[in-house]
Amino acid sequence: MQFAELGLRAALLDAIAELGYKEPTPIQEQAIPLLLAGKDIIGSAQTGTGKTAAFSLPIISQLGPHGPGPRCLVLEPTRELALQTYDNFLKFARFTQLRTGLVYGGVGYGKQMDDLKHGIDILVATPGRLLDHLSQGNLRLDKTTFLVLDEADRMLDMGFLPDVRRIVLQCPKKRQTMLFSATIPPAIETLTTWAMNEPVRIEVGGYRQPAETVKHVLYPVAEHQKETLLLGLLEHVHWESAIIFCRTKRGADIVESFLRRAHHKAAVIHSDRSQVERQQALDGFKSGRFEVLVATDVAARGLDIADVSHVINYDVPEHPEDYVHRIGRTGRAQASGDAFTLYTAGDAQFVAAIERFISQKIPRLKLETFAYQYTALFDEGRLGPLSERKTKGVRMGKGYFCGSARKR
Ligand code: AMP
Repeated sequence: MQFAELGLRAALLDAIAELGYKEPTPIQEQAIPLLLAGKDIIGSAQTGTGKTAAFSLPIISQLGPHGPGPRCLVLEPTRELALQTYDNFLKFARFTQLRTGLVYGGVGYGKQMDDLKHGIDILVATPGRLLDHLSQGNLRLDKTTFLVLDEADRMLDMGFLPDVRRIVLQCPKKRQTMLFSATIPPAIETLTTWAMNEPVRIEVGGYRQPAETVKHVLYPVAEHQKETLLLGLLEHVHWESAIIFCRTKRGADIVESFLRRAHHKAAVIHSDRSQVERQQALDGFKSGRFEVLVATDVAARGLDIADVSHVINYDVPEHPEDYVHRIGRTGRAQASGDAFTLYTAGDAQFVAAIERFISQKIPRLKLETFAYQYTALFDEGRLGPLSERKTKGVRMGKGYFCGSARKR
């Protein structure tokens, strides 16, 4: 299917052509016609699927010329996601007269108030700061007929749902609402029933499935050897850029500092760092100044960082959904990528939960040349043959493969 067949305005087709998008992604193919027909939708699509364009293109197409607003409100859980979505709207609305604004916390009010006073059509915001502006009377939502609740499950995790409700209640009843969420826990289900009008559900690729373009493997290791194994992997595997995930902010700081001591150009991103530090880390990583970005789940969720060759889980995620999200940082937009997970005996129940969730057994690998100390995980292979493994490498005893997952 071609973009021209979807019914979008010409100004958008020009912007799409300029961005070099050849054809719509599956979620765009499904969502754009429904949204242009005025339907509410609930979308569960993995990040990297082109979700942002799937909702922003039909909204811009329906907005027409500049007018009193904001007529479209997009709520995002984090500042980085808000900024990223705002950038997307700017690109897509390039050949229109529409004005896009951005409102998030951690920075001054001045510019945001100026923008709001000036009049904007599309507002991208995080809930807390938006409520501040609303209570100060800096804007009203009585013209907001397009409402996007992005990453709704993450907003729930971060405790934003009460804020989201207060915001939704200030929008007109007659509006088009779109909600995106990787999972639909009961609280989100409730939100969809009162905030949406006969929504159509769209599921693309099944959020439980890691992208097919990602080769993912586990590296069993004794807890006290994690640091040396990570350094060993970075030394022996050919990689270009890596995101390393840690479970805690403190853990992320520790990993960043030992990487720096080992002369890796590393930066860290988590919610205790200031907005300026986070943005510098992100920009530096995107520009190639940093080759490694150490991150926690909340900080990194949904970030559109292109061309990451490797995702490394320094800690196994506690929630299986986070595993899929984390490894979705690589192998985006049809490029291939590798995802390594360091796996200690204490993580066994989390790994079992992940394997159940994705209905796949994840291959176990050993790094050649690494001086392993014993961990009970090396006996895991006795429990059953790890057959049918597609990963390249030499089959070792006890069901292990030796070598890196894949050399580029
Ligand atoms: P998203 O899932 O919205 O974060 O998008 C992931 C990446 O895919 C972004 O860098 C988009 O610019 C890009 N993208 C979105 N739609 C398309 C498309 N139809 N063709 C090529 N790239 C796209």
